[in-house]
Parts: sequence; C-alpha cells; structure tokens
Amino acid sequence: MLEHMNGQWEALAQLYEHDHERATLLAEEQAVREQLREGEVVAALVERRRMLGRQLKDERERVSDLAWELEETEQRLASLVAAEAAQDDILGAREVAALRKRKAALEDGVLHHMEQIEVVEQEQIEAEADWLRHSSTWAERSGSIRAAAEHVAQQLAIVNAVRDTLLAALSQDDRERYLAAAQRHPMTPIAYVEQGQCEGCRTPLAPTLITDLPALCPTCARILLPFV
Ligand SMILES: [Zn+2]
Repeated sequence: MLEHMNGQWEALAQLYEHDHERATLLAEEQAVREQLREGEVVAALVERRRMLGRQLKDERERVSDLAWELEETEQRLASLVAAEAAQDDILGAREVAALRKRKAALEDGVLHHMEQIEVVEQEQIEAEADWLRHSSTWAERSGSIRAAAEHVAQQLAIVNAVRDTLLAALSQDDRERYLAAAQRHPMTPIAYVEQGQCEGCRTPLAPTLITDLPALCPTCARILLPFV
C-alpha cells in the first residue's frame, strides 16, 4: 500500500493517461486505413477497364472472323445455287442445304457477338465513369492520406515505446496484472473508482475493496485506481 502511494500509483496513473492517448491514435490509424482502401478501389477499377477493353477487342475480332466466313459461305452458296439450277444436281442440293444451315448459324453467331459488344461497351462506359470519379478524388487526397498514415504510424511507434518504459517501471505484480487486464480490455485496462463505482463497467464496489487499492474490479478485472 505505502509502496503504491508514491511511485507505483503514479506509474499506473501515467499508464492510464497513456492508454487513452494510444486508444485515440489506434482509432485514427483505423480511420486512415479505411481511407487508404480508396486506393485499392481505384486500382480495381483500372484493372476492370483493362479487362473490359480486352473483352471488347476479343468480341470484335470474333465478329470480324464470323462475318468473313459468312461472306465466303454466301458467295459459295450463290455459285452453287446457280450451278444447281443449271444441272439439277442431287449432290449439289445437299451441299446447298448444308451451306444454308451454316449461313444461318454464322448469322446467329454474328448477331450474338454484336449484342455482346453492346453489353461490354455499356459496361465500359460505366466503368470509365466510376474510374474517373474515384481516381480524381484519390489523386486529390492520396498524398495527404498517405502522409496521415505515416504520421499516425510514427506517433504510434513513439507511444508504444513510452508504454514499454512505463510498463518497465511497474512492480512485477502490477505489470502482470496490467498485462492480464489488457488482454481483456486492450484500450482501457485501468479504471478509476468514481463515486464508489468502477469507471470501466459501472459496477458498485465494496467499500473494503476501495480502501485497499490498487485492486482488480471483481466484475471486469480492470486495475482500479483511487480517484484523486
Ligand atoms: Zn469494472
């Protein structure tokens, strides 16, 4: 108890202040991390534009191949029909039927891929608009967001180093109790007694407990400090 009156209480009280500062920084770090995700959105949109561009190129090539084959088929069909009319040729008639079938399939194919081109073109317009919107915002803000991320990381490194120093100043018992409490309450392992209650969980505390601080809150297991 006497030992705690001076150095140890002070160290725990400093840790209390420090934990709150650290919690604020961790919340800032989380917020900055959310903002950095916007960069990932932009990168995903760049990839989507590339993918749609490739898809469009493939579809156009397919249409061009099919149209070429269709033209050939039509020419062959026209010459066969002319020959068939002249010769009344059974074999020629079969080939004409096969070519007509092929022609119909090719026409379907051309139509199908033309429709695909329209779909992809529409998607490309939307992806382009999305990309423009996100990338211009990101271009404006990425510098300051990255700077903020770096700043928070530096602050956290300092705060964590100070925390280590403060932890080293505790007695072994207090350090173990603090680390155990921090397992359950990473941001607020220490609580003050406020009007007979634990600040952390608001449970009323037995008067005998309050006269013998620091102790652990029987409900939330935070380290209790007397309110000064
Ligand atoms: Zn409590």
